[in-house]
Amino acid sequence: MKIAIIAHDKMKKEMIDFCIKHKEILSHHTLVATGTTGHKVIEATNLDIHCFKSGPLGGDQEIGAQVANGQIDIILFFRDPLTAQPHEPDVSALFRLSDVYKIPLASNINTAEMFFETFK
Ligand code: PGA
Repeated sequence: MKIAIIAHDKMKKEMIDFCIKHKEILSHHTLVATGTTGHKVIEATNLDIHCFKSGPLGGDQEIGAQVANGQIDIILFFRDPLTAQPHEPDVSALFRLSDVYKIPLASNINTAEMFFETFK
């Protein structure tokens, strides 16, 4: 499967910890990420991840284009619900596209944990 990994700044530590915990599972899938999240996860896990642009610079839209083209199977997007994001329209657009194409999207770590139960 192709998994997209995205985390807002305050959620990046949770995402890194999640990816360390599930490194073995993740290593069997094709991974893409927004720029900053991807580079931090690579640094912590050495996983092979294709990094798009940083989210605020268009990375969410690049992943959205992949969703629209049927190229993404699962999205892990740990969203910060307490901080305004300058690129909120891009974030909303990605969530909308995930619903248009019925792509499973985990917006927090516990949902992601439930998704990954299915991989065991
Ligand atoms: P980033 O983007 O991984 O480049 O920080 C994430 C986002 O805020 O959409």
